[in-house]
Amino acid sequence: MTMSALGEPCVLLKLGEIVLKGKNRELFERRLVSNIRDALRQLDLKLDVRRRHGVVAIFMPPGATVEQAEAVAQRVADVPGLVWIHRAWRVAKDPDTVMKAGLELLRDRDEVKRGASFAVRSRRRDKRFPLRSNELDRLVGGAINDEYGLPVNLSRPELTLSIEVDRDEVFVYTDGIPGQGGLPVGSSGRALVLMSGGIDSPVAAYRMMRRGLHVDFLHFSGIPFTTSESIYKAYALVRKLDRFQGRSRLWVVPFGKAQQSIRTSGQDRLAVIAQRRLMLKTAEEVAHRIHASALVTGDALGQVSSQTLANITAQDNAVDLPILRPLVGWDKTEIMAEARRIGTLEISELPDEDCCSLLAPKRAETRAKIEDLKQIERRLDAEELCVQLADSVQEYTI
Ligand code: ATP
Ligand code: MG
Repeated sequence: MTMSALGEPCVLLKLGEIVLKGKNRELFERRLVSNIRDALRQLDLKLDVRRRHGVVAIFMPPGATVEQAEAVAQRVADVPGLVWIHRAWRVAKDPDTVMKAGLELLRDRDEVKRGASFAVRSRRRDKRFPLRSNELDRLVGGAINDEYGLPVNLSRPELTLSIEVDRDEVFVYTDGIPGQGGLPVGSSGRALVLMSGGIDSPVAAYRMMRRGLHVDFLHFSGIPFTTSESIYKAYALVRKLDRFQGRSRLWVVPFGKAQQSIRTSGQDRLAVIAQRRLMLKTAEEVAHRIHASALVTGDALGQVSSQTLANITAQDNAVDLPILRPLVGWDKTEIMAEARRIGTLEISELPDEDCCSLLAPKRAETRAKIEDLKQIERRLDAEELCVQLADSVQEYTI
C-alpha cells in the first residue's frame, strides 16, 4: 500500500459504557488501558497505548506492517469495555494531507470500483484545527467525488470515511470491528464461578466478566468415582475464556466421596439439591480464601428440576455471599447461540462424565424444604465437610 507515504497504521478504540461513569471514569479508563496492555503483551511488539479524550489510541513501532496492526485490532476485540475497534491511519495534522490520505485509503476498495455511495464524517477533538468538521467533510468529500466519481449519501452511505482530528495527529479509517462492550474486567471486583463442563456456566462466566468482574473458576469432579475427563473439559473451557480477562485460575475439588455420603444420608429426591448446597458452601469457603465477593452459576429459571424458584431459594439460603445468575432469564437457544459466539459450545458438547450423573434420582424434588435440607446437612456435618473440601482444592493456572 502506498499509504505509508502519508501516515502509519495504528488502532483506535472507542469506549463503551465507561463514558457514563462520571467521577469514576478516570479509574475505569485506567483499568481498561492496563487490561489492554496486558492483553497485547503476548504479541511481543513495542506498542504505545495512549488515552486521548474519550478514545484510546494504540501506536505501532516504527516500520510496523498493516498485518501487525490487524493482529493488534483482533486481540483487543476480546477485551471488555470497548465498543469499536478501528484499524486506522495516523496522518499529519494538515487538511491537505488528510485529504490525500482519504483518497489513498479508498483507492483499492471494491465499493469504489462499483461506484457505491459514500459519506465523510469528521470530528474535531482539537478545536484549533484550521477547518471545522463540516468544512473538512466538504474538502475530503469533494476530492473523493472528483477523483472517483462516487455519489454522496449522507443518510445511508455504503462506505463511510471517518476522520478524527486529535491533539497531535489525525486518524483516518473506514471500517471497524465491534468490541465486546461492557466494562473493564476488574472494575467491579472479583467473583468465583461454579464451572461444570456444561454449556451454561462458561456463558455465565463470560457475561459477568463483561460486567467488570475478574473471575476464578471452581469445578467439582466426581473423582475418585469418575475419570478426570470433566477436569480436562473445565480446563479447556477456562483456557478458551481466558482471552477475555487473563490470569485465569481453575480450582478443582474432588467431590466423589462427599457425593457418596449425601447419597447414603438422605432422601433420594433431595440429593440433587443437597449436593448443590454443599457445592455452594464449599465455593463460599474457597471464595473467602481467594478474596472473591460473589459466586456465579449458570442457572436459568426452570431449565431443569434443580432450577425451580423454590430450589433457587434453597440454594441462596445455603450461603451468605450473593449468587449471581446472569442467565436466569435466558432461553436455552439464546445460551447456545452465545456459547457458539464466544467459542465454548464445541468444548461443552464433548462427552464427559459429569459428577452430577452419579446422583440422578428418578424424580428430583422441585419444592425442596429448607428444614429437610438442613437436617441432611446436620447428619453430614456439612459445615466441617465444606472446610475439608476447600482444603482439598487443587489449583490449575492457565
Ligand atoms: P451447565 O451447563 O452450566 O452445567 P446445567 O444446565 O447442566 O448447567 P445444572 O447441572 O443444574 O445445570 O447446574 C447448574 C449450575 O450449577 C451450573 O451452571 C454450574 O454453575 C453449577 N454446577 C453444576 N455442576 C457443577 C460442577 N460439577 N462443578 C461446578 N459447578 C457446577
Ligand atoms: Mg451441568
